Amino acid sequence: MAKPVLLTVDDDREVLRAIERDLRRKYGSDYRVLRAGSGPEALEIVRELKIRNNSIALFLIDQRMPGMSGVEFLAQAITLFPDAKRVLLTAYADTDAAIAAINEAGINHYLLKPWDPPEENLYPVLDELLEDWEAAFPPQFEGIRVLGNRWSPVSHNIKDFLARNHVPYQWLDIETAASDSEVRSLVELLDEEETRSLPIVILPNGVRLRQPSLADLAEHAGLKTRATEAFYDLAIVGGGPAGLAAAVYGASEGLRTVMIEREAPGGQAGMSSRIENYLGFPSGLTGADLARRAVVQARRFGVEIISAEATEVRIDGPYRLLKLADGAELSCHALLVATGVQWRKLDSPGVERLTGAGIYYGAAMTEAMSTKGEDVYVVGGANSAGQAAMHFSRYARRVVMLVRGSSLAASMSQYLINQLKATPNIHIEYNTSVVEAHGEDHLEAISIHCAETNEVNKVPAIALFIMIGAAPNTDWLAEIVERDERGFIYSGPHLTRDGKRPNGWKLDRDPGLLETNVPGIFVVGDVRHGSVKRVASGVGEGSVAISFVHQYLSKVV
Ligand SMILES: Cc1cc2nc3c(=O)[nH]c(=O)nc-3n(C[C@H](O)[C@H](O)[C@H](O)COP(=O)(O)OP(=O)(O)OC[C@H]3O[C@@H](n4cnc5c(N)ncnc54)[C@H](O)[C@@H]3O)c2cc1C
Repeated sequence: MAKPVLLTVDDDREVLRAIERDLRRKYGSDYRVLRAGSGPEALEIVRELKIRNNSIALFLIDQRMPGMSGVEFLAQAITLFPDAKRVLLTAYADTDAAIAAINEAGINHYLLKPWDPPEENLYPVLDELLEDWEAAFPPQFEGIRVLGNRWSPVSHNIKDFLARNHVPYQWLDIETAASDSEVRSLVELLDEEETRSLPIVILPNGVRLRQPSLADLAEHAGLKTRATEAFYDLAIVGGGPAGLAAAVYGASEGLRTVMIEREAPGGQAGMSSRIENYLGFPSGLTGADLARRAVVQARRFGVEIISAEATEVRIDGPYRLLKLADGAELSCHALLVATGVQWRKLDSPGVERLTGAGIYYGAAMTEAMSTKGEDVYVVGGANSAGQAAMHFSRYARRVVMLVRGSSLAASMSQYLINQLKATPNIHIEYNTSVVEAHGEDHLEAISIHCAETNEVNKVPAIALFIMIGAAPNTDWLAEIVERDERGFIYSGPHLTRDGKRPNGWKLDRDPGLLETNVPGIFVVGDVRHGSVKRVASGVGEGSVAISFVHQYLSKVV
């Protein structure tokens, strides 16, 4: 935790140094002592500390300074740090003015210069004031702060990225500036250019990032964005359950392992509000918890986790070379593709324009709190939509599920159907689909088509969560591995047709169970053609794949 600040201001350099020395000697272990030679210089420091969300415990200010008196300085400084204690340093001749200023600037004490010895004339006064300050002052939030607009897609992406990567942050909605003094004073401190280019991410060291890209944010948030080695035994692309399981098993069995994840470890499972069918967790666990535990486990075994997107694969003899979005390249002997699937887009007018501004793909957990007391629409009839509806029902006034089919039985687990039916604020509308989204800068209404009546109804809506199935994103691998017509990657027995091994396959064995048509490139989880789309099966495949990797490496290395 950053130490609270004691700020002292005096235009006499010698006096300033003496105060600083006395303050450091007694309080240096618990407080940061800062000094300034004038009121304006001190105001700069005060503003910067406010932007960094640091606390000031005490102002120790000389009254008689050219340009700006101590009282004038305090009158401005306390608008930003109203709880800080204020001590005015005066010469004997100024005492009347100082007493008069006690009310004006809310001064707690005035001290006559010189204060020697400090043990008698300075410390007892400050001890008492600092004790009071500590007793009353709530600890400040010290992580990253994001100032933006609730309806901005960029703000949403930043919040989502930080939350899913378990980076603590504080969200400050600029629309609350009128009612929230914290937000208001921060906005006042930023320059006009900055407030025009929201969201702005404020790091604890004061660095401000305007509308940062996720790669930039990852770098500044302390996530690893570059591989430390040029070569690994095993490189895994995708950090969902399948990739994470492979990482844990690979590293625990001695393979130098790197895992590349472009969004956040946990994948789709990380977005699940409650996974209830994963073995060993009878009361379920959130996807975020599962991901966090798996990441800790993987790191404990020495897996290097990199926040980056893989964009290209090349084969060079026994080496598989992986290119990342920032142009960096790393090589490995075995490559495991665990890139899962991404949400299928709803192709109705208005939806793309308002995505991130009231319309979200997936359960968008970061938005759940902001749906408090409102009506929420969830599109989809599979388990993911059911879980999302249950999750939002805890915050929203009413959750309406829009389901295209006439029942949920074929697409959703029975335990979830039972939960939905037993939740009074969830309402299911069958045979419906969203045909248009309306709104200027954020979602305001949706048009719903009912297949039974063939009617279209426009209803007010400010939150729409879409979960209508998913597709693999494997175009970047199209030249390398064989895929089915939907982009899922073939492996093992699916590659042998009419008893023939895949084109170009030169080894005197068939492709392994989870191996693609390129020896040494494996595929696991949802992205694999024919896989069961579940957490447990992804974890199972990721773990099992490592034994095939070992077999492969035993012949290559
Ligand atoms: C909301 C929701 C709830 C669910 N609930 C359950 C449940 O209760 N029980 C259950 O068994 N299953 C559930 N599922 C399904 C389950 O989550 C998936 O089957 C499982 O996550 C698949 O794991 P995976 O590792 O194969 O892929 P994913 O989880 O999809 O992970 C793939 C990862 O790869 C990353 N990636 C993709 N391309 C690249 C690239 N080029 N470079 C770097 N990284 C890349 C992605 O960012 C992603 O993190 C749910 C799914 C969702 C969406």
